[in-house]
Amino acid sequence: MKDGDKVGLGWMSSSCMSCEQCMDGQHHLCSKSEAIIVGRNGGFSDKVRGHWSWAIPLPDAIDISKAGALLCGGITVFNPIILAGVKPTDKVAVIGIGGLGHMALKFLKHWRCEVIAFSSNANKKEEILIMGASQVIDSTAPEELESITGTMLDFCVRHHIYPDVEEFPMEKVNEAIEHLENGKARFRIVLKNNYSQHLP
Ligand SMILES: [Zn+2]
Repeated sequence: MKDGDKVGLGWMSSSCMSCEQCMDGQHHLCSKSEAIIVGRNGGFSDKVRGHWSWAIPLPDAIDISKAGALLCGGITVFNPIILAGVKPTDKVAVIGIGGLGHMALKFLKHWRCEVIAFSSNANKKEEILIMGASQVIDSTAPEELESITGTMLDFCVRHHIYPDVEEFPMEKVNEAIEHLENGKARFRIVLKNNYSQHLP
């Protein structure tokens, strides 16, 4: 890694590099690990310090405005697909189609699985179907529930899988949170740091 490289940080920003877990390659289990949002400003900051081992090189072709969401929500739902050994012939349910769920849906669709989405927001149904779910179950409707019978960044770039992101400037953070609380977020909100414009 060298100066000027394009990198991203996920949830973690450092680990001790010397404990049993770190030496075993399980850095995320390090008891001295630091999370990127604890004790500092997290996603609201304009700079962040992290250990090089947690800086993840980004593919050149990546849309950098969406990389942050991939390294947080994206990997959270991508990892279980790998760990569970999900196969293209599997039928998979995604429960909750929000910031994470819609990424799971996109991953699984490109994995060629049949995806059934569970959502409590009927207003999202059409968009969920367009994203590739074969069926949308209203998770608030018991009768609908009863009727049922039935290496991430390269993968994203290759298949053009990105979260659907709405950008808000940092100064409109309250508007963004209201947008989210009203169930209007489609599907992930990214706050854009524009502090430099406000410097004297
Ligand atoms: Zn450690």
